[in-house]
Amino acid sequence: MSGSLLVTGIGELVTNSPGSGDLLGAVADAAVAIGDGVVVWAGPEADLPDEHRGGASIDVGGRAVIPGFVDAHTHLVFGGDRSDEFARRLRGESYRQILAAGGGIHATVAATRRASDSDLIADAAARALRMLASGTTTVEVKSGYGLDTATEVRMLRAAAEVDAATPIDVVPTFLGAHVVDRGSDRDDYLRLVVGEMLPACAPLARFCDVFSDEGAFTVEEARIVLEAGLAHGLRPRIHADQLSHTGAAALAARLGAASADHLDHATPEDAAALREAGTVAVLLPGASFSLRSSPAPGRMLWDAGVTVALATDCNPGTSYVESMPLVVALACLEMGLTPAEALWGATRGGALALEMPDRGWIGPGAIGDLVVLDAPSHLHIPYRPGTALVDTVIKRGEIVAGLRPEADR
Ligand SMILES: [Zn+2]
Repeated sequence: MSGSLLVTGIGELVTNSPGSGDLLGAVADAAVAIGDGVVVWAGPEADLPDEHRGGASIDVGGRAVIPGFVDAHTHLVFGGDRSDEFARRLRGESYRQILAAGGGIHATVAATRRASDSDLIADAAARALRMLASGTTTVEVKSGYGLDTATEVRMLRAAAEVDAATPIDVVPTFLGAHVVDRGSDRDDYLRLVVGEMLPACAPLARFCDVFSDEGAFTVEEARIVLEAGLAHGLRPRIHADQLSHTGAAALAARLGAASADHLDHATPEDAAALREAGTVAVLLPGASFSLRSSPAPGRMLWDAGVTVALATDCNPGTSYVESMPLVVALACLEMGLTPAEALWGATRGGALALEMPDRGWIGPGAIGDLVVLDAPSHLHIPYRPGTALVDTVIKRGEIVAGLRPEADR
């Protein structure tokens, strides 16, 4: 799927182009030309070359345009929901107590194993389409609710089906080492992950992830799994230092991982290591918000020079959040990022976390993924949290979603 489209009448164009003087590379009174799904021209409309006129076009009437959101951390494929657990946590039970009692991830594992392929795909596709409607054009999707080889493979196949059946681009990650399967010996389970799941899942995934934390895997176990993933051609990423400081962020840096995610308990030493390694910090403010815990030190990480990305962590337990605009608002209001930093992290930062340099920015060579806001400026995203502000979503040069009916465009 790809199209050619000229977008004019852009009041504020966020390009994220480096070297433009400000972080977002904002251009006023701008136009963008997309040819065969790829941006061929972007800049002040007054400078638009005539060669880009004459084909399909939309005038967005002074609205702001940003790159499509790149959501670099989700658990989009799952069975069931955990609304009951949400209510229990609000009554005072901790996530760790619920997990130890067989709830948490284990409850979703049971529901995912029970779900049919068609239900897993249909439910995940419905979530993906809601994400698309809120401006997300690329989404990373993890396995990790199977914890047996057959179900892990089914989850990654479902992610591929969502990629094929919807306009959104899906980037698959193997997360067999999410938790030790209930009733399994942990050494036996690790042998299963490395010896059987990885060979079966590697052809279906781009990244290998591990949940390294209290109640999940130790840093040493994470190293074993991620090095095995590397041997199968999967780039590493890590759930790191979310519930406690375990040293997983430092491991991510040592391995040159694509990303270290969560980082609620990261230290300045971790920040220095991530910066030196070029490992992206993927921050998930929807999780700390939903758990009513302290958010990751986003301000500290940004100021330390770490590349920061923002993502939803969409999952049925600790962050059933599908909206990147809400995540941008939380990053500003809970972590102290500026609106420009948060928007950059939710677009360009996400693309860098997924090692996809062709997206998260708008300029010649970038894929034509644009979001028209029903607002004059990107500032309205964090300023009006929870408000549907996505006017139109353009994926590879085709209009694929939005608030306005086709006839009004
Ligand atoms: Zn996660």
